[in-house]
Amino acid sequence: MNLAGPVDPPMDAGLARAARLQRVRDQMREMEVDALLLSLGADLPWLTGYEAMPLERLTMLVLPVDDHATLVVPELEASRVDHDPRLFEIRPWAEHEQPTELVAALVGHRTRLAVSDRCWASHLLELERSIPGAAWRSAREVVGPLRAVKDSHEVAALRAAGKAADTVAAALLGGEITLIGRTEAEVSADISARLRDAGHDRVNFAIVGSGPNSASPHHEPGPRIIGKGEVVVCDFGGTLRLGDGVGYCSDITRTVVTGEPEPELLELFGVLHFAQAAAVAAAVVGTPCEQVDRAGRELITAAGYGKSFIHRMGHGIGIEEHEDPYMVAGNSSPLVAGHAFSVEPGIYLSGRFGARIEDVVIATEDGPLACNEADHRLAVVET
Ligand code: ZN
Ligand code: ZN
Ligand code: ZN
Repeated sequence: MNLAGPVDPPMDAGLARAARLQRVRDQMREMEVDALLLSLGADLPWLTGYEAMPLERLTMLVLPVDDHATLVVPELEASRVDHDPRLFEIRPWAEHEQPTELVAALVGHRTRLAVSDRCWASHLLELERSIPGAAWRSAREVVGPLRAVKDSHEVAALRAAGKAADTVAAALLGGEITLIGRTEAEVSADISARLRDAGHDRVNFAIVGSGPNSASPHHEPGPRIIGKGEVVVCDFGGTLRLGDGVGYCSDITRTVVTGEPEPELLELFGVLHFAQAAAVAAAVVGTPCEQVDRAGRELITAAGYGKSFIHRMGHGIGIEEHEDPYMVAGNSSPLVAGHAFSVEPGIYLSGRFGARIEDVVIATEDGPLACNEADHRLAVVET
């Protein structure tokens, strides 16, 4: 396994987006889609660099397979668009205009349309009325598999985000973050502040589950005061912007214990540690995604903890915290160089304690590349 080395300089963001646009058009031709309509969600910033606010006012990139793309955007938002005329035109709409009519005019005679998953139903219903006879499908079918394969710009951004999260994990493992006597919520706020200090522009989550709460994978950090000799699972991540690019996500989980671990925890953690490494090692280009899940799950099951591993092995990660591809039974699509995803087995003994280890990994021609290199061992933190 490669460890995260120095971050390569990213390619020019405009060139990267032009290449993505080309790949999308090729895919549209292949899938016989005449026009792509992208509203909220990550496809829009991935292609244009512009992240639309989730307003009720319509923002939509109209991308015909055979013509220029046009961003239909509320006039009051237009100044936030870093407009690159090589990639798309911009059509700001005033408050008295009907934006869905503008979209319909840009779509013209085209009828095979794909629309983003995150488009308000109200807009889609209006579009269906304005463009009668159109056949609709999800833009995710077109863009999802392309966005799952990260280019060098995105790999650099993910590695930078991973490095930033690693510094916070190191502080946790090294006992710099006080646990004993503080509430989970206080520790969560501390982790969040450190994620920002480490360069994240936004904190997406900072789960802190202590004692019996460590057995709840998505535990909401609360008023429980962390005691001595307890397991604490910390799962945190944010979004980091590299240069003037769009932000990319980090996501890491480490498990610590605030005192001498009991033998059962040591045994459980040993299995988990081994399973996580096995799943990472399985993440080789050409391997079905579900095999990454299976490689780790088999070991956990063989050790008798199969029923206590209650979620998939991992999720894709990029502009969104969770995106394609998913490392889950049933996903037989092969790993491609550039796929970025989490590897995060967990074992949860309900009402008692649990543990999870998570890294973000990128599949490369040279094998799996970890974006996180913080120590995986169970750290005893007596602070
Ligand atoms: Zn999760
Ligand atoms: Zn996580
Ligand atoms: Zn995750």
